[in-house]
Amino acid sequence: MTIKDEIEKLREELREHNYNYYVLDNATITDYEFDVKLKELEKLEEENPIFFDPNSPTQRLGGGVTKNFDTVTHENRMYSLDNSYSKEDLLDWEKRLQKNLGVTDIEYTCELKYDGASINLIFEKGKFLKAVTRGDGFKGDDVTTNIKTIKSIPLVPREDFLSNYEMRGEIILPLEGFNKMNEKRIANGEEVYRNPRNTASGSLKLQDSTEVAKRPLDCLLYQVVTNERKYTTHYDILEAARNSGFKVPNTIVLAKNIDEVLKFINIWDVERHNLPYETDGIVIKVNSLEQQEELGYTSKSPRWAIAYKFKAEQVSTILNEITYQVGRTGAITPVANLEAIPLAGTIVKRASLHNADQIERLDIRVGDTVFVEKGGEIIPKIIKVDLSKRPENSSPTKYVTNCPECETKLIRTEGDAKHYCPNEFGCAPQITGRIQHFISRKAMDIDGLGGETVDLLRKEGVIKNYADLYELTKDVVMPLERIAEKSAQNMIEGITKSKKNPFEKVLFALGIRFVGETVARKLAKHFKSIDNLMSADLETLTAVDDIGDRIAQSIIDFSVNDNNKKLVERLKSYGVQLEVSAKAIENQTDKLKAKAFVISGVFHQLSRNELKKAIEDNGGKVSSSISKKTDYVVAGDNMGPSKLAKAQGLGVSIITEQDFIEMIK
Ligand code: AMP
Ligand code: ZN
Repeated sequence: MTIKDEIEKLREELREHNYNYYVLDNATITDYEFDVKLKELEKLEEENPIFFDPNSPTQRLGGGVTKNFDTVTHENRMYSLDNSYSKEDLLDWEKRLQKNLGVTDIEYTCELKYDGASINLIFEKGKFLKAVTRGDGFKGDDVTTNIKTIKSIPLVPREDFLSNYEMRGEIILPLEGFNKMNEKRIANGEEVYRNPRNTASGSLKLQDSTEVAKRPLDCLLYQVVTNERKYTTHYDILEAARNSGFKVPNTIVLAKNIDEVLKFINIWDVERHNLPYETDGIVIKVNSLEQQEELGYTSKSPRWAIAYKFKAEQVSTILNEITYQVGRTGAITPVANLEAIPLAGTIVKRASLHNADQIERLDIRVGDTVFVEKGGEIIPKIIKVDLSKRPENSSPTKYVTNCPECETKLIRTEGDAKHYCPNEFGCAPQITGRIQHFISRKAMDIDGLGGETVDLLRKEGVIKNYADLYELTKDVVMPLERIAEKSAQNMIEGITKSKKNPFEKVLFALGIRFVGETVARKLAKHFKSIDNLMSADLETLTAVDDIGDRIAQSIIDFSVNDNNKKLVERLKSYGVQLEVSAKAIENQTDKLKAKAFVISGVFHQLSRNELKKAIEDNGGKVSSSISKKTDYVVAGDNMGPSKLAKAQGLGVSIITEQDFIEMIK
């Protein structure tokens, strides 16, 4: 077998396994065996870059960073759907169809309305090319790099399907994965994600595709747009899509009339609560593609389809108590503790009340009977109070004035929705939360130390802050309950290893309010050391791109605090990186300032990632597709002919890898 055949064979095999695992949910090999094969393929591809293929299973692991998502005009507009809420609405719709088509019998398909973010997957010559968000329906964002990490989307569907087409679908976050993500956030003292839909659509716009790859996203397909006339009905085309590898839910059914449609609606109005993902209704479509074409579109939506919206479910129950939670940053969240009641498939015991204003707006009081609703939101909401059932002796809720954990008087700064406990260094959940944040994966990523152990160590009085971690020894940790010698050893090693983390990670780990990962990266690049950052004034700080007053003020508050100053000095003394390493600075210049690059093809001296990093380190920007704004295309071997033509058409400079290396010398 030639190397090329070997590579192709491995790709084919891995594609099949992806399909079995992610679409059929029926793995035929273990994760380990899969990884071995993937590594093998990775190695072969690395050794033989001429066989690079953007649709190889190795290209789905994430890694690409998109700074600015390119805007792409949809070749076929992405429409909304008209809504209906009752049998009468549906019968009216049918009458319009009958009149328009001049027939009485119309066949329909009934599908679930998956609740996520719409996506347009573009396939050319049978292969995946690009993924674009719906945007305003006319133009969307190119999110190809992120979408590729969703393994249930076939990049190379089986051959007998169509050649050039757009596959429309919904990016969703199944409930189980969503809940797991939130459990992790709770363990890290971070605020939970509100609902799967927003989290799914937010995921598409993350800059780092490695992050996207970690999220358990899925893609359910519901529409094919094509000029190829191979199929005559919507049902058949979806069935064929499913057979060629796309995840088309098999909940779709054919209906001969509106009565049959209503049967489907009645079943799913109840059954939807047993689905692994959220739905917010049903979509009914005219099955014949010819009739669809004849009916066409209004200015907003297709005439041949309509959504049926489920009613949000409401129940009433009693509010037993209002408790208050303290987050990592000291933010207070009031929580309604309810008399347990089943709602939309789960037992509801608690509902978030968000903040003091919310309580005041609802005039909600302990002992009240309240209406709780669960619509698209996973966390139930309290809609209103049933005043007719208010007990006579009831009195208005007084918001807590002192921290439920440490008794400190709460503060509320103007413009802030929430109250805060200012006792940063003495309030248990804040102390624990800050250390948990410090060790978390995106921050110091300390192996061998988890959130629960941090909690234990703090409760035992062994650590009071993150600097204390660096003074831990095996002898101190081991006597503690649940910590064995081996784990103690791993923990100490993990902590020691974290001293090698680059400054930007350390800066994020410090947990300065409003300084997230991206902001930390920017600040590290700009100020280069903690000393420079902590001595900067408001003006200097806000002069940095994307740093506004709010972030700047928070950095200053952090910097003037003696406790923080001491902590930082201690971290320095242990050898934690509090400045950008000399080597990293050396490689950074402004040579490519504000220049936009697109990288295309296969390179020899630098890997694609190295090339990207070199561009960014020198002040340039990298985007994934060519537009008027592109300054240079760095063209390697096998640059796609359509890209080449586009670059030439727009008069963009096309340079070689060698030219590029000269540019930054
Ligand atoms: P709306 O945003 O309420 O106008 O509803 C239209 C959106 O519903 C489309 O953009 C799709 O993203 C989404 N949708 C979910 N499931 C389906 C489905 N089975 N058929 C068509 N659209 C669907
Ligand atoms: Zn407190």
